[in-house]
Amino acid sequence: MEKTLSIIKPDAVAKNVVGKIVDRFESNGLRIAAMKKIQLSVSDAGKFYEVHAQRPFFGELVEFMTSGPVVVMVLEGENAVSKNRELMGATNPKEADAGTIRADFADSIDANAVHGSDSLENAKIEIDFFFAGREVL
Ligand code: GDP
Repeated sequence: MEKTLSIIKPDAVAKNVVGKIVDRFESNGLRIAAMKKIQLSVSDAGKFYEVHAQRPFFGELVEFMTSGPVVVMVLEGENAVSKNRELMGATNPKEADAGTIRADFADSIDANAVHGSDSLENAKIEIDFFFAGREVL
C-alpha cells in the first residue's frame, strides 16, 4: 500500500469536474484518505513548487496555482504513486494518452487539471506539506 498526493488544480475546480476526477481515482482502486478545498497563497505555491524555482515557467505556475481554489487529496492504494501518474496522463495534455484525466479535462501545459507526486519520497513530503497526521485516515 502506498499513499500519494493529488491536487485538482484551479482550472478543473473552476470547470466543476471535481467529482468526475475523483471518480477516476475511486474507479481505479485508489481510496481517498484525506481531502480538502483550499486557496493557495503565493508563498504556499512557491514553497510547494520550490524545485521548479529556476525554471522559466515558475512565475506562471505560481500565478496559475493561486488563481482559484484547489482540491488537495491523499490517495491510498497499491502502487498509488505510479497508478495516479498513469491515470493523470502526460504533463502536456496534447501528449496525454486518450482516456487519461489530462486528455479529458485539461486545456494546456499549465492549466493541466491535476498534480500528482512523482515518487514515494516526494509523496511523503507533499502529504506532510498539506495535511496533519490526524487528517489522513
Ligand atoms: P507534472 O509532474 O506532470 O505535473 O510535471 P512537472 O513536475 O514537470 O511540472 C510541474 C507543473 O509545472 C506542470 O504540471 C505544469 O503545470 C507546469 N509546467 C511544466 N512545464 C511547463 C512549461 O513548459 N510551461 C508552463 N507554463 N508550465 C509548465
